Amino acid sequence: MSPVNNDVPVTGKGLIVSFGEMLIDFVPTVSGVSLAEAPGFLKAPGGAPANVAIAVSRLGGKAAFVGKLGDDEFGHMLAGILKENGVSAEGINFDQGARTALAFVTLRADGEREFMFYRNPSADMLLRPEELNLELIRSANVFHYGSISLIVEPCRSAHLKAIEVAKDAGALLSYDPNLRLPLWPSPEEAREQILSIWDKAEVIKVSDVELEFLTGSDKIDDASALSLWHDNLKLLLVTLGEKGCRYYTKHFHGEVKAFHVNTVDTTGAGDSFVGALLGKIVDDRSILEDEARLRQVLKFANACGAITTTKKGAIPALPNEPEVLALIKGA
Ligand code: ADP
Repeated sequence: MSPVNNDVPVTGKGLIVSFGEMLIDFVPTVSGVSLAEAPGFLKAPGGAPANVAIAVSRLGGKAAFVGKLGDDEFGHMLAGILKENGVSAEGINFDQGARTALAFVTLRADGEREFMFYRNPSADMLLRPEELNLELIRSANVFHYGSISLIVEPCRSAHLKAIEVAKDAGALLSYDPNLRLPLWPSPEEAREQILSIWDKAEVIKVSDVELEFLTGSDKIDDASALSLWHDNLKLLLVTLGEKGCRYYTKHFHGEVKAFHVNTVDTTGAGDSFVGALLGKIVDDRSILEDEARLRQVLKFANACGAITTTKKGAIPALPNEPEVLALIKGA
């Protein structure tokens, strides 16, 4: 049994502001069917940046979400879910004209994932720079974001402005591109836009699939990861699903193994991992320069990711701290 290093509190004062989309995934009530065959759908609130904010809060940290929802039943339902989970909703705007984004998602029996998005446009795409709650963004110790908010204007300009405001106010910038190819006009455009804000972030997390996509290499190795390195970066993470994660800093790099669990649905594992990591470093950035402590934090983040795969859906599966410590202790 490995020792549990719990000297990095997650309950500090630092605020993590997560920027981007929150939407509803509609998932079939039965598994292994196409969207057309599905007899019915269940609502599963999602959107990676919103999941990250809830992950932070569930672990005892302080989080806010910034984004736009439709001024409709679903938009208010989602804002309510954030609040119920202790996430500040001060940065949420409601669009009078456009609906909350919906995504119908299924994993067919042949293993192919099918998506159908209702974003024509959806409210999240219509967030304007002048609507941003700048006071909230300036109070962030960590500002986290993805790439879906880069796809179209005016949200793209709002995203770029929010990054600048957070950076000028001294926030640590954290980026998880969260590639969703079907939402982009082309793979080339996705790669170009995702990389267009690459050198701003100080913490970047990519999955193995994203690493391959962004580098154009079919190898998941140190050389391909390090080809994504830039001078402002403090920590690059590559998550490897059931194989854990790799980390790279200016001075050291290595791998932290995953936990063995009974996986049911991997949705949200990466968001849970990111929320856990940010919750640990928000009050103590020196962890990023201390390999032993960083490895403890990544072990904790791996445990969070693993637990999130043991239940259906993302938000219901995000763990609290006692659950994480129990998994670490029992491993
Ligand atoms: P993403 O959701 O962004 O694709 P991953 O699937 O790599 O990210 O998951 C993030 C982290 O969650 C991994 O680094 C790992 O620690 C944990 N994790 C994911 N899937 C599993 C699994 N099947 N078993 C155990 N841990 C997992």
